[in-house]
This record gives sequence, structure tokens and C-alpha cells, in this order.
Amino acid sequence: MSVTQSKPEAMFINGEWTEGSSSNRIPVCDPSSEEVIAEIPDASVADVDAAVAAARHAFDQGGWPQTTAQERGRILFRIAEKIRAEAPQLAELESRNTGKPIVEAEFDIADAATCFEYYGGLATKVSGLVNPVPDNALSLSLKEPVGVAGQIIPWNYPLLMAAWKLAPALAAGCACVLKPAEQTPLTALKLAGWLGECGVPPGVINIVTGLGETAGARIVEHPHVDKIAFTGSAAVGKLIMKSAADTLKRVTLELGGKSPNIFFADADFEAAIDGALFGVFINQGEVCSAGSRVLVERSIYPKFVEAMTEKARSIKLGPPLDRDTKMGPLVSREQYDRVCKYQEIGKSEAKVAIGGGQPASFGRGYYVEPTIFYDVDNSARIAREEIFGPVAAVIPFDDEADALKIANDTPFGLAAAVWSRDIYRALRMVKAIRAGIVWVNHMQPTYVEAPWGGYKQSGFGRELGVHGIDEYLETKQVHINLNEQPIGWY
Ligand code: NAP
Ligand code: MG
Repeated sequence: MSVTQSKPEAMFINGEWTEGSSSNRIPVCDPSSEEVIAEIPDASVADVDAAVAAARHAFDQGGWPQTTAQERGRILFRIAEKIRAEAPQLAELESRNTGKPIVEAEFDIADAATCFEYYGGLATKVSGLVNPVPDNALSLSLKEPVGVAGQIIPWNYPLLMAAWKLAPALAAGCACVLKPAEQTPLTALKLAGWLGECGVPPGVINIVTGLGETAGARIVEHPHVDKIAFTGSAAVGKLIMKSAADTLKRVTLELGGKSPNIFFADADFEAAIDGALFGVFINQGEVCSAGSRVLVERSIYPKFVEAMTEKARSIKLGPPLDRDTKMGPLVSREQYDRVCKYQEIGKSEAKVAIGGGQPASFGRGYYVEPTIFYDVDNSARIAREEIFGPVAAVIPFDDEADALKIANDTPFGLAAAVWSRDIYRALRMVKAIRAGIVWVNHMQPTYVEAPWGGYKQSGFGRELGVHGIDEYLETKQVHINLNEQPIGWY
């Protein structure tokens, strides 16, 4: 089969499509109709082993790490161009498979292309150091690719998460085995079909489709994988860290959050209401950095809850492919059940301002109402546990110290936002919040040029920006003795 052909019903190993060794297939659904739109192989341990062997070969014997940074950069630019050229079909596929509104999917696809461009450019900017050692010697720090990277991604931004993983790894000269989430493998597989024409040699990128517990776990434990880059839940992140310990793999973990979106009374009120809704309801709330804890200064609290509720009424739920849809269905039955469960928990813990159930109008599809709980105590489950759906917990606070205490009172530390016109206060908060990303007077903008990652149980390591490529590089110290005499010790 031609390597340029896209065949989403198969996996991509060593530049070839393969059905895999197991006869099991995993159905892939459209969450708005609940219909099966594709079936993918359920990768076995043997399939993962084949993918790792292909990546190992590409890295150890295939010459991939020896390609020049310029060549790798040009390959990444070609991938970016291809994604841009195919953006309409990719966005439609992403929207159908995840349930996210088409307009949001279009942004994701453009971002994925930008990510390949950025790392295409960065490939040629990796350089080492000359170390000032106190001897007649030349001491160098060289940067080298870490080897074979196992990459495991979630379902909320499928192609974008694949780009965040593949682009820096390729720029660094690594070979990859990527496992998309079982629910949303289709756009990564589409991309696989174009890799050959973009100049990616066989084995450099392998995409295995399958379940986390089998295929994912095998990638993590495999002795020939050098590094794991994982994005997903904290629970799975913990399993991965334990399993990777057996072979002392390098691990980076981008995990979940319960991010505070903090509104002081002096914030621009209209912008604040908009920012509170955008922070938690974008992508149906299926966002790791969702501002799911909305912290509001008590003096504006009643007015804020009322205005937020009022504006939330206008959020248009609908089929993902409608251009005026602002919120589509959740990704799967499992996620729908999870969010519905938290809606019920919330009703026993706090007051409902809006939502709390499922819209009657659709008949099918995993739609839930945008839901705002208020008078939430930060100790409530809906304030502590990641729901990963359109559920906001609004929490009042008294003053700056109280806001900070509540903001940091969480096991997570992915993101936070502070809304205030007082720049001194905003900056005090920025410094005191324990999170990897802090926005001021905005929430959610994410740029490939700027680092992404968490503190605390939101994981460690950074993706994106110049930091992102470091995670795929080893540092080799080279010492060149410039004395021509023996050491003279004995
Ligand atoms: P998940 O359940 O942790 O799954 C993530 C990936 O890990 C999937 O590909 C999954 O496979 C795989 N997996 C599951 N068990 C595994 C195991 N034992 N060994 C190896 N791999 C395993 O997360 P999700 O439900 O897909 O995504 C939502 C989570 O991702 C949320 O917690 C969210 O906050 C987080 N997230 C974080 C970021 C960030 O940048 N920090 C970005 C996006 C999402 P299958 O599901 O296919 O079986
Ligand atoms: Mg899963």
C-alpha cells in the first residue's frame, strides 16, 4: 500500500499501513449522532513492539538523527504546509470525531500547522555550550536527541496534541511511537498518510491505535523506548511514572487541573463575565486548563453570578458542524456519564445558577447543559476534582489574601487567571500562585512560542516554546584535553 494514502482503519508502522496482529477493532464514534464512523485496530503488545522496533531502527541505523537540522526543519515546514492545505477536511474530521464546534476545530488545525512551523524553525537553533573549565582544555556541552520517544495523548485536542508531541521530537532528531486516544485517532492517522510525501522516512513516526491499558502500557514499559511524553489525567500519569521507573525512562507529564479564574472587583466587568464563560466553557469545558473554579470578590459576587448566568443562556448548543454552534456534545458516552454524575454531586454541594442537566432538544448525542454552580465551598468535590466538562464552580472571596489561599488550595497547578485593573495586585498574585501558566485579564490563549505545563499534580516538564525541544534532547559533556603531556599523577 502506498505510504501517501490515508487509511484511517489501519495503524501506521514503519511507513506502512497495517491492520495489526489482533482481530479486535475499536469503534470510533461521532458523539453528536452516536454513530460509528470508523473502526481502528486494537494494537496488541506485538504491534507496539513492531512500532518500537521500527522507531529504534530509524534512530539507530536509519540515519534519522544524522540528518541535518536544516533537512529536518524543511520536513517540518512541509508537514505544516500540508496541514494548512488540508485544513478544511481535517477540521471537519476533528469536529465530527470530538464533537467540538467546527470553528474551534479550525483554530486547532491552524495551531497544529503553526506548531510544526515553529519547531521547523527551531530545529536549526539548537546549540550547545563551551564551558569555562579551569584547565587547558576545551569543554563542550553537546545536544543530542534522546532517542525513541513514546507519546501518549488525550482526546480533547487530537491533532494539536499530536503536533505538540511530534514536532519538537522530530526537530530534535528523535523517532516516535505515538498513541492517540482510542476515541479520537482519525486526524493523526490522516496526518500519517502524508508523512511520506513530506519527507519523513519510514519508522520515524509510528502511530499505534489501541487502548491505554494495553498498547499505552506497553509503550511505557518497553525497554527500547527512551522517553515518555504523556498528556492525560493525573491518575494515568501516576501509573505511567511508576511503570517508567522500571527502565528509568525520562518522563514528562502534562496532566489535569482545577484552575482558578480570579475576579477582583476592579476588573472590567464586561470583560470579566466574558472571560469567566470563555475560561470554562470553551471546547465544552474539555480543557486541561479550564477555569473551572471561578473566584469572585464578594463585593461584586451577586451581580457577577447574575450576569454570568444571564450571558450563559445565550451559549448556543448544537451540532458541531454548524458554524454558529458554540458548544457541541461531549466526546463520548463515558465522558457524558462522568459529567452528569458531577452535575448531581454539585446539586448536593452548592446552588445551581443555570444548567445542571441535559438538554431535551437533541434526542441523541452526548450533550450536556453549560452548568454554573455558585456558593461553592472550595472543599466541595466540584471544586477539588477535575470534571472535564462544562461545569463552573463559583466561589466568593473576601480579599486578596483569601483569593490567593483558595487559588492555591488544590492538588493541581496547571493554570490560573487574574482579572484586575491594579497591576501591582495582579503581579503580586502572578508571583504567589503556584501554577505553570498565569494569565492576567485573559484566560486560555495558548501559543506555540510560550511554555506549557504544570506545577504540583498537574505534572512536570514543559511543552512548546524553546523549552519544549529540551525535553527531547540529552546533554553530552565533551572534554578535550589540550595538554600534550601525560597526566603525571603516578
Ligand atoms: P486519560 O484517561 O489519562 O488518557 C490519556 C491517554 O492515556 C489516552 O491515550 C489513554 O488511552 C492513555 N492511557 C490510559 N491508561 C493508560 C495506561 N495505563 N498506560 C498508558 N497509557 C494509558 O485522559 P483522557 O480522558 O484521554 O483526557 C483527559 C485528561 O487529559 C484530563 O485529565 C485533562 O486535564 C488531561 N489533559 C491535559 C493537558 C495538558 O496539557 N496538561 C491537555 C489535554 C488534556 P485510551 O483512553 O485510548 O485507552
Ligand atoms: Mg481513555
